[in-house]
Amino acid sequence: MSAEPLHAVIVGGGMTGLAAAFRLQQWLADKGVVPRLALLESEPRLGGKIRTSTRDGFLIEHGPDSFVASKPCAYQLVRDLGLEDDLVRNHTGQAFIARGDRLYPIPAGTMMGIPVRLRPLLKSPLLSPAGKLRVVWDLFSHGKDIDGDQPAGDFFRKRLGNQIVDRLIEPLLSGIYAGDVNQYSLQALFPQIHQLSRNQRSLIRAMGSLYGHAKPAPAGKSRGQFLTFKTGLQALTARLEERLTACAILKGRSARAIRQQGGHYRLELDDGRSLDAHAIVLAVPDAAAAGLLPAARNAIPPLLPTLSTSVANVVMAFPHGITGTSLDGTGFVVPRGSGHAITACTWAHLKWPHVAPSGAALLRCYIGGAHDAQLVDAPDATIVDAVLTDLRRITALRETPAFCQVTRWKHAMPQYAVGHLDRLEQTRKAMAAAFPGVFLAGASYGGVGLPDCIRQGEQAAHDLADHLEQRNLLESREALNVD
Ligand SMILES: Cc1cc2nc3c(=O)[nH]c(=O)nc-3n(C[C@H](O)[C@H](O)[C@H](O)COP(=O)(O)OP(=O)(O)OC[C@H]3O[C@@H](n4cnc5c(N)ncnc54)[C@H](O)[C@@H]3O)c2cc1C
Repeated sequence: MSAEPLHAVIVGGGMTGLAAAFRLQQWLADKGVVPRLALLESEPRLGGKIRTSTRDGFLIEHGPDSFVASKPCAYQLVRDLGLEDDLVRNHTGQAFIARGDRLYPIPAGTMMGIPVRLRPLLKSPLLSPAGKLRVVWDLFSHGKDIDGDQPAGDFFRKRLGNQIVDRLIEPLLSGIYAGDVNQYSLQALFPQIHQLSRNQRSLIRAMGSLYGHAKPAPAGKSRGQFLTFKTGLQALTARLEERLTACAILKGRSARAIRQQGGHYRLELDDGRSLDAHAIVLAVPDAAAAGLLPAARNAIPPLLPTLSTSVANVVMAFPHGITGTSLDGTGFVVPRGSGHAITACTWAHLKWPHVAPSGAALLRCYIGGAHDAQLVDAPDATIVDAVLTDLRRITALRETPAFCQVTRWKHAMPQYAVGHLDRLEQTRKAMAAAFPGVFLAGASYGGVGLPDCIRQGEQAAHDLADHLEQRNLLESREALNVD
């Protein structure tokens, strides 16, 4: 290891850490400084939750399968990496909600199940007449209950009634966050709704003013809102790794502890060695970050960890397609308490035709989450059996998959509970005071989606660069030599 401290070490080689390292390398090079950076990743591969594999002509995503196109930083990163031409947009189609063993179309004109336009919801068989009446009541209600944060579930129940929450909003939210709608922070998950509802009595009117200007597309003609790459999401992390030419990448090595050492930090590694650095990005889950900073336990009481839930992703491949279902859509989600193990299923070959050979079918299903965590620990065969049983009941699937792959994600889905944003702010302030130059970023903090992780990684790089510049820590006498 070189005697002079590095400019920075980035701990964690997932989407957040890779984005931070790339932007930091770019920024230092733009300043004419030879970057002295290291990226530390405990797994033998980079990418974190992004993992793509191929088998028998199928393209399999074990973690995330795409990112939302509307958040600009992800697209900008893709452009800067020269990957724009490899992007693929999802095919759109009807999505469904399971109720009992039946599938009901998700009514048009809703966002995450929250009505923007009322007419399609009123025509939907998903809600009873009483349930619909309760939703309409929102237009005449005096919603003055929006001081501070509160559970998203409570807020939607008060505004729209229980039925729409249980049958529509909860399953859609759980499909993304795998948690409990009664615990989620409204402020963290829906900042715009939280803000707008202060001024608007009706939630439906607030949703209309936020999203109602978009002209509804004719059925089946809307433009896909998600992007991935022809060869899978791992194309992004692979290209980032390729471009990190001025950053030492240490795979299969974990940070064990961080200590303040003179004017800089010393990171102790699990192989007994250490790295000295002026600044650090902790792009690891918050429980891992807290474990690295034993001194923070006393100094920083609000230091998260947030709770996180476990899920398993079950991919099923059918080389000759599936005939048992007449589903013409992209997939379905399942409300809790339905008696099914499966929480969501995507007809991946219809949503993303490039992931399966022509005529074949690929299903991506989820189990687990806040309400069924034990199943994630069951053997593969038990999980596959439970998923197939549900698919046969809900979609009348008749075929047997040629192969199945189960990927477990333990404690992988952060749950932003009520008060998350306040705790986060306190934590950041306490960190800045006790550990100047150490920056937290990633899914545990400011958003779980890949664009949010990229934004946070880039922000951490920006803050870290400011920190180095303000303290005149950019001068370097030694070439980088980390092995
Ligand atoms: C099953 C699943 C499906 C998802 N689907 C989508 C989707 O379709 N679209 C979307 O936008 N988002 C999706 N998400 C969310 C998104 O994938 C994650 O929020 C995001 O990938 C997290 O990135 P990260 O870099 O913050 O964390 P991670 O990917 O968890 O990376 C953190 C890295 O830190 C490493 N690490 C931990 N401790 C140490 C240590 N002590 N020393 C060194 N390294 C360490 C870990 O090995 C890991 O590689 C999904 C998440 C899951 C689990």
